[in-house]
Amino acid sequence: MASSPLTGIMTDRPLLIRDILLHGERTWPEQEIVSVSGSGQRHRTTFQETFRRTRKLANVLADLAIRPGDRIATLAWNDYRHIEIYYAVACSGSVCHTINPRLPEEQITYIINHAGDSWLFASVDFIPLLEKILPNISGVRGFIILGNDGETSTIPLPGAIPYETLINPASDEYEWPEFPETTASSLCYTSGTTGHPKGVLYSHRSTVLHTLMSNIAATINLNEQDVVMPVVPMFHVNAWGIPYSAVMAGAKMVLPGPHMANGQLLQALIEEEQVTVAFGVPTIWLALVHYLESSDKRIDSLNRVYTGGTACPRHIMDTLLRVYGTDTVHLWGMTELSPLGTLNQAEKRTDLSYDEKMDLRCKQGRSAFGVEMKLKDNHGNPVAHNGKDPGILFVRGYAICSGYLGEGEESPNTSLHDSDGWLNTGDIATIDEDGYLQITDRAKDVIKSGGEWISSIELENLAMAHPNVAEAAAIAMPDGTWGERPLLVAVKKDNNSLDEQRLQEWYQGKLPEWMHPDRVVFINELPHTATGKVIKSQLRGQLETLLSQ
Ligand code: AMP
Repeated sequence: MASSPLTGIMTDRPLLIRDILLHGERTWPEQEIVSVSGSGQRHRTTFQETFRRTRKLANVLADLAIRPGDRIATLAWNDYRHIEIYYAVACSGSVCHTINPRLPEEQITYIINHAGDSWLFASVDFIPLLEKILPNISGVRGFIILGNDGETSTIPLPGAIPYETLINPASDEYEWPEFPETTASSLCYTSGTTGHPKGVLYSHRSTVLHTLMSNIAATINLNEQDVVMPVVPMFHVNAWGIPYSAVMAGAKMVLPGPHMANGQLLQALIEEEQVTVAFGVPTIWLALVHYLESSDKRIDSLNRVYTGGTACPRHIMDTLLRVYGTDTVHLWGMTELSPLGTLNQAEKRTDLSYDEKMDLRCKQGRSAFGVEMKLKDNHGNPVAHNGKDPGILFVRGYAICSGYLGEGEESPNTSLHDSDGWLNTGDIATIDEDGYLQITDRAKDVIKSGGEWISSIELENLAMAHPNVAEAAAIAMPDGTWGERPLLVAVKKDNNSLDEQRLQEWYQGKLPEWMHPDRVVFINELPHTATGKVIKSQLRGQLETLLSQ
């Protein structure tokens, strides 16, 4: 007789972010959220007060005729108001679309229009940016400006409303609605692939599962004794999920506002607030270590930092542990993964010496619960997990996107996934017998500087728009501070007299300065495949020779 699975007899409650909010508010009403404003002032509030204001904001959203499914954009730093927006927008059924203000204006305009954002919350700092792009984002119905009373009293933006003016009179009574757990909650664009930025649309279900995955003891393991400082911006993959996991675990949050790479401020915050856990890209920890070394200051409360976004250099992890007693947990993740993929808890390996652990830490770690990994070669054949043979890394799991917004998200995206539904990460990696992942290269054609993407295509197209350039290829060169910086390899038209400085100047005003190539090298011919594609791996292999020219 054919048997069929027996259905469990359990209630079927949807996984909603609302429940993280309600749990945090009910269980730890007095837990604190400390934010730093642009001028460096500290603002202190509690979970109770934050979620009271979040209910007021939900009423405001309803009054503004914001409906379930509407995309509500933010251009904002890490602070308590951004937390209120995260929760009010998602928990009332709309979608919180966080935008990276460091992108070029054209990309920000593209992203706002592509997402179909109907309202935009912006920190006062971004008013000049909005003034510039205003004529090209006509779908946005209104702007709400985040700042203190003095800062928002006169706003030179037509129709813009100060946040506090809106929420002050609103009622703080609001019943959070219930809807299917597959409802979209937030949206984040990634430039990690070539072409236009792509929108990853998270759901309530994926966000709650990602929060649970993050908070288990084997993973990030936050608790109510922790003081958590996300130095990863809230416009990057929901600040790696910390605004959710800290509330679920009852941990105090310390939000550094716009002062992300300021080692002095970070040290002061760690000491003042007794921060125990912090999150950020290696460039941040480098800035902190530089400040500590130049000042003799300490970070004694800081037990561990989580670092990801790009490979963490050994010397940062070594200095943090040896000199300051702070453990580094190396993470690998992607916007498409919400972002947690792997983490490296080498410190827990009692079988290894200090140096062996340090070597191991340089790998990106083992998969988090809810993430599976496999390697394939260029022909789609499996690659052994022997720590030696590299392959293209594929993943599947609970909080991984199945497509990009507006690109067939209703069915798995075939260019993004293999036929079994595993996501192609675009990373090249080895996996050893113990399951440790090591990223060895990147198949996707991009450069990552200080955790931010620079499109090589964009650099190349701009170079080739120069009348004296015949062809150009942009590749990453390793950099001690930023991880990677762009190098442009160019071929001149008819061997003209164009030089490095003039080609670098060509980028002025066309892209933000931090995206400009640090070096330009001219060669006679670029290497090509039979189909005419530039062989970048060959250029990367010749990096030293190129740079010595
Ligand atoms: P993003 O979507 O901006 O978070 O970028 C994801 C990509 O960043 C990955 O596919 C990797 O190429 C890179 N990445 C993230 N974490 C690491 C890491 N720890 N080591 C090396 N590369 C990383």
